Order: sequence, then C-alpha cells, then structure tokens
Amino acid sequence: MGRVLIIGCGGVASVAIQKCCQNSAVFQEILIASRTKAKCDALKQLLEGKTDTKITTAQVDADNKEEVVALIQRYKPDLVMNIALPYQDLTIMEACLACKVNYMDTANYEPENIDEPAWRAAYEKRCKEEGFSAYFDYSWQWAYKKKFEEAGITALLGSGFDPGVTQAYCAYALKHEFDSIETIDILDCNGGDHGYAFATNFNPEINLREVSAPGSYWENGKWVEVPAMSVKRVYDFDQVGTKDMYLLHHEEIESLAKNIPGVKRIRFFMTFGQSYLEHMRCLEDVGMLSATPITYEGKEIVPIQFLKALLPDPASLGPRTKGKTNIGCIFTGKKDGKDKTYYLYNVCDHQACYKEVGSQAISYTTGVPAMIGAMMLLTGRWKKPGVFTVEEFDPDPYMEALNRWGLPWQESHAPVLVE
Ligand code: NDP
Repeated sequence: MGRVLIIGCGGVASVAIQKCCQNSAVFQEILIASRTKAKCDALKQLLEGKTDTKITTAQVDADNKEEVVALIQRYKPDLVMNIALPYQDLTIMEACLACKVNYMDTANYEPENIDEPAWRAAYEKRCKEEGFSAYFDYSWQWAYKKKFEEAGITALLGSGFDPGVTQAYCAYALKHEFDSIETIDILDCNGGDHGYAFATNFNPEINLREVSAPGSYWENGKWVEVPAMSVKRVYDFDQVGTKDMYLLHHEEIESLAKNIPGVKRIRFFMTFGQSYLEHMRCLEDVGMLSATPITYEGKEIVPIQFLKALLPDPASLGPRTKGKTNIGCIFTGKKDGKDKTYYLYNVCDHQACYKEVGSQAISYTTGVPAMIGAMMLLTGRWKKPGVFTVEEFDPDPYMEALNRWGLPWQESHAPVLVE
C-alpha cells in the first residue's frame, strides 16, 4: 500500500520498523535512514527473509534539510516517519513541505542548543505569556499548519504512547463515554527493574531534561507551574502494584487543553523510584544535567551529552528489564447529566516485548503507536491537510489497531481517583 522513509534507528525506531515489517500489506517498502548507517544495515539484516516488506538503508544527517530533501526526492515516499530526536522535527517538516510528502513524529520540537539567542528570546516570551517553562512546546510545529494545509499534506504530531495513545484514549472517552470531560489525569507507571542503580529508559538527554524541569498542569484555563518533583502521589496500579508518582509537565497537556472542550484540569504523573530520584538530584547539583557547553582541557563538552556516553544505552536494557508498565488516563465528567469516572490503560510486560522485538517496554509502547499512526496516514483513514495531534482524528481505527498490534487496552468504570 505504501512506501515510507523512516528517519532514525534507535530504541524506538527499531521497534517501529519491526512492527512495520510485521504489517507488510501496508508497509510494502521502507527506507531506513539514520546518522549511523551501520545500525540501519544491522536491522535490515535481522529482518530480511522474515518479512515481505522491501527494506533499503541510507545515511542521512537530518539536521540538514537539503540532505533530507535529496533523500525524499530520490526515494519518493508516501510518508516520512521521524523517529530520530525532537531536535530534527523542524528540518524534517521543512523537507516534507518542500517535497509535499506527509510527515509524522513521536515527540514535539525542542532545540538541541537552548542558548541560541533567537530561540531563547522566543522561549522566554512564551514562558511569560503561557506560564510553563519546559523547553518543548507545540508552537514551533503548529506554526506550519497553514503551509501544510496549502500543500495538501498531513503532519501527525506525537504518535508514541504519551504523547500519542493517551490522546487517542481522550478522544475515545469523549466519543463513547462522556458528554463532557471535566478532568484528565494521565498516569505513566514503569514498574520495570533493570538492575542498574541509574539508567534512563529512552534517550537520556531528552529524558533527563524532561524530568528535571518544573512540573505544570492545566487548570481553569491556565497553566499552574510547580517546582520539579514537588507534587507526589501514591497509586496502586493494576498488575504493577503501589508506586510513588510525581507531577510533570508533559506535551500532550498543551494540545488536550485546546482540543477537549470545557476540560477543567489536566495533570500528568510519572512513577520514579527513590534510587532514580537521588541520582538525578545529585547529577543536577553537580551540573551534569546542563546542556550548556563547558571547556575541559581545551575541548568543548556538553555535560548532559557526556553523561549520556557514560550511562547504559537504553537499547541495552531490554534483556535485563523485568516487570510491567501501566500507562493510561483517568477521566471524570458527565454522561446524561450524571457524574461519571472512567479509566483507560494498557499494561505491557518488559520481558514479553523483549521476546518479540528485542526491546524493553518503553521503546515498545512508543514504537507500536508510531507504526499505527503511520498506518492511519498510509491507509487514508486519517487524512486531512494541516498539522494535527492524535486526539484530532477519529480514535476508533487507532484503538482497534492498538488491540491488534500488541498494546491492548483495558477499562475500568470505577477507578480509584488521584487526589
Ligand atoms: P535514540 O537516541 O535511541 O535514537 C535516536 C535515533 O535518531 C538514533 O538512531 C540516532 O542516530 C538518530 N539521530 C539522531 N540525530 C540524528 C540526525 N541529526 N540525523 C539522523 N539521525 C539522527 O532515541 P529513542 O529511540 O529513545 O527516541 C526516539 C524518539 O522517540 C525521540 O524523539 C523521543 O523523544 C521519542 N519518544 C517518544 C515517546 C512517546 O511516548 N511519545 C517515549 C519515548 C521516546 P545514532 O544512532 O547515530 O545516534
């Protein structure tokens, strides 16, 4: 049915690519292109002979728009899946626009260099006007809405689990369970244990930036910001057990606040163990989470990038990680004039993921929805020109696909609410 250029070949991409290859009727041909071509070749070798999808590989520096344009012009894909890093979102969107090709990604734009003056000025203005201080936000990608509409192409932003599936859950709850949604609590629980004192489950730079930033939530039409890790709750997760969770800023809150009519409060919580928090605090105190370059023995190094080189590669955690993830949304609202509560969630087993695709559940729960988002675009089930997030489309085919492709959802009509 389609021909897809997949950019990136890290933890998440390798799952998405394997899922595309399980779904050859839709993904007939793929070109895997990344900074390190050897990783693309190794994955191609692993998959060839086991799939009907025709795989080719290439090297690309996706920070360079012209290189991406040249690759698109040569390969002529129906869709570009950006599963590299959020740093590349805008160059790849620009390239898609230049070539009039559909685009999708799994995380919203943030710059690699947060000290770049033009970006910094726009960021500081946004912090003041909007009231949250995360380095990422949708404004940069939403700015392409009109251009994508005029070009007649679709950009699907953030089709991972959170963002991604969590927004499909919201759209589904609104369509089938509620007349109006009042509150949404997104709970992201990782009950997995990899045996290391400290490691991150996906790209360390992106992960540590996210969790060391101030938390924020949406309430009564505005952002409320709180110091990092200052709001703690305890929740008993199905099939995982009782965990401490902390309020974080998260990107889907921004789009859900716009797209769920009348919603009064949206919060995001993520579980963290004590060892992770203690290490993170210590690394932050000594400056190791800084993205500002320092000069060491005549060489410029970025502390957080140096830290990344020391930490275990997230892709290597697969064989060691045991336990389950439980990610979902708890809703309160009204149906037929009555108060109602509802919980939609997925439980995913790290070892079962490893058995299937050689990755832990964090890469799996992101890579599967990346494939599903791409499938929605390729099959034309989700098709409208412009720039959209997951909750702006019909959730039903996406929810059906989650059940079919490895992330079945469960529901509760009497969930314990978060205080
Ligand atoms: P990794 O670091 O494992 O992989 C990133 C890949 O992108 C690597 O193959 C890397 O190449 C490649 N890459 C980096 N820079 C460039 C470049 N300039 N040009 C071409 N390729 C490049 O990251 P993850 O797989 O963990 O994460 C992938 C994405 O998924 C990220 O955007 C992350 O934020 C997002 N994510 C989303 C989640 C969600 O639920 N929505 C959850 C988890 C992650 P090389 O191999 O050379 O380093």
